[in-house]
Amino acid sequence: MRTLFRISRSSSSLIAAILAISCSFLIPLSTESKVEPFYASAVFQSANHSAHGSWTAAAIPTLQCPIGICKVGGFPFDVDWNCSKCRRCPVNGPWKKHTGADLRADPKTEVVAAETGTVKDVYSAGDGWASAILVEHSNGNSKYLTLYMHVDTTLKPGAHVDRGKPIATVAAISDAHLHFGLWMGPYDPKVSENHRGALPACAQGATSCFDGKYNDRCFPQSWVDPMPYLQNSSPQPRVVVSTSLRISQGNAVAPSGAFGMGKIDGTFTVTNRGNSKISMKQLLLAGRLGDTCPNNQCPDFQPMPRNITLEPNQTFSYAGSFTPQRPGTYNFDVVYENQDGKWQWPVNSENGTKNHIIIIVEPGPTLNSANPAQLSASSKRQTVILSGTGLGRTLYCRVVLPNGQVTNIYVPLQQVLNSSSNRIELNTEFRMRGTYYIRAHTLLTYSNELTIQVR
Ligand SMILES: [Zn+2]
Repeated sequence: MRTLFRISRSSSSLIAAILAISCSFLIPLSTESKVEPFYASAVFQSANHSAHGSWTAAAIPTLQCPIGICKVGGFPFDVDWNCSKCRRCPVNGPWKKHTGADLRADPKTEVVAAETGTVKDVYSAGDGWASAILVEHSNGNSKYLTLYMHVDTTLKPGAHVDRGKPIATVAAISDAHLHFGLWMGPYDPKVSENHRGALPACAQGATSCFDGKYNDRCFPQSWVDPMPYLQNSSPQPRVVVSTSLRISQGNAVAPSGAFGMGKIDGTFTVTNRGNSKISMKQLLLAGRLGDTCPNNQCPDFQPMPRNITLEPNQTFSYAGSFTPQRPGTYNFDVVYENQDGKWQWPVNSENGTKNHIIIIVEPGPTLNSANPAQLSASSKRQTVILSGTGLGRTLYCRVVLPNGQVTNIYVPLQQVLNSSSNRIELNTEFRMRGTYYIRAHTLLTYSNELTIQVR
């Protein structure tokens, strides 16, 4: 993940990033040739579910997750309702749509009924795709169906099933997962035609779409995304960065994006947007110098307290600091470690918040000596030569006068351009007796303080 982030930020790696994007596109396209199988119902002849009269969305209660914890991602379609990974049908025709959620599940995982109902059909989900179960549920006058695809079952049509009670197990097919569908409307007994998990969204007037192998009926609008109806029954924490990661130089010298060697402050907020609590072993603003941890010491911000627990919608705000030990390009990410030792890197962000920052830390110049180090107060300009290292990019010297006032003396452009210079000529009037404190400032950082005594 780190590598991907770096690629996306680096213009020299733009081509690599494009290639990476193309590749991630190609993978689902190739697996997509393994089309999800058919499911049949004559109900589909109407693409307008209002024809079913009594149905309203409110009639669907909160459903129980059929496999304990519902997480999409069991198959390339996930819960890709627009089915951007599906084919057009036929070529240049309408896009197909995915008609359910592909839930992560290991083979043999017990499948339970999402709600009490009656089994209406048990049928082959296609060669190599095991079986499908269609269950009808009632809520007052409203009826709706749930579909469990790619399972093994002994149930027969007509069987009564209870919410939360086993009805099947996830089949041990390659790409094992549970395709869970939710159909808003009653079952139609004229089940004779096949329907697959990914169906064509035909243009108006068309009733079917032949893709060269299957003649699919048009995408029936009565299939809806089941995930919102499962939310309350699928306990999942979901930690997101809810306030952007921000870092700033402790002394406010540096413009954004570039920093000096001084202390750097960092803040961000994470929120648990899931519906169950999470206990993080460790939450961290993790750093890398480039992509590495020099000498096995990662340039992390001050660690936070361990074992941070967040209830749903609870927030944790971080504020800490970090002092770079060497110049270079740094990457920082908001990350956390689960109790099982796995890292979430980086933590997801919401609403465009930032969870990753790259900064450049510039080395600061060093002042070693002033010549002369002691001089007499005078109303005439006097020249003092400051020597040290890394003074070439000095733009100005910040001078604290003996009375505490501060003035900036700008360095002649000639000296600024001479980036190899290790000396600065300070040409000014030293009128007051006492100690002058001098620092050399570059655009990003500044040097140590040097003193000049004036008698
Ligand atoms: Zn599916």
